[in-house]
Amino acid sequence: MAGLSSERQAEVKERLVARKQNLWLEVKQQLKTSIGDGYQEMLATARDEEDQASVSLLAETQLSLLGPKRQELEAIEAALQRLENGNYGLCENCGLPIEPRRLEIMPETPLCRNCQSQREKLAKATAR
Ligand SMILES: [Zn+2]
Repeated sequence: MAGLSSERQAEVKERLVARKQNLWLEVKQQLKTSIGDGYQEMLATARDEEDQASVSLLAETQLSLLGPKRQELEAIEAALQRLENGNYGLCENCGLPIEPRRLEIMPETPLCRNCQSQREKLAKATAR
């Protein structure tokens, strides 16, 4: 295992698990407050098909709002998996160790700084 002591690994795992629990709470809260009430309200007032359509539209909108959180949850899940497999801290793309300071800030990142910025440039280029 590249450079990460088992103590350090336990520490990282603790941080990831805590973050994951927080995120789940936030997601559940968000669903309850924004979809929960709104959904009930719209269902109560829905009379024809047009209203039904706006109900599902609302649900879709709210779910896409959850996007970033869902992505982060997935990243954390993957990072925990890498801890299990013993390849945590290595870049998913080039296989080199990820900068310790970067891991300190974003323990769930699967990419080193180089690959991350390359990927961002690529994303920008294709978005155009
Ligand atoms: Zn890399």
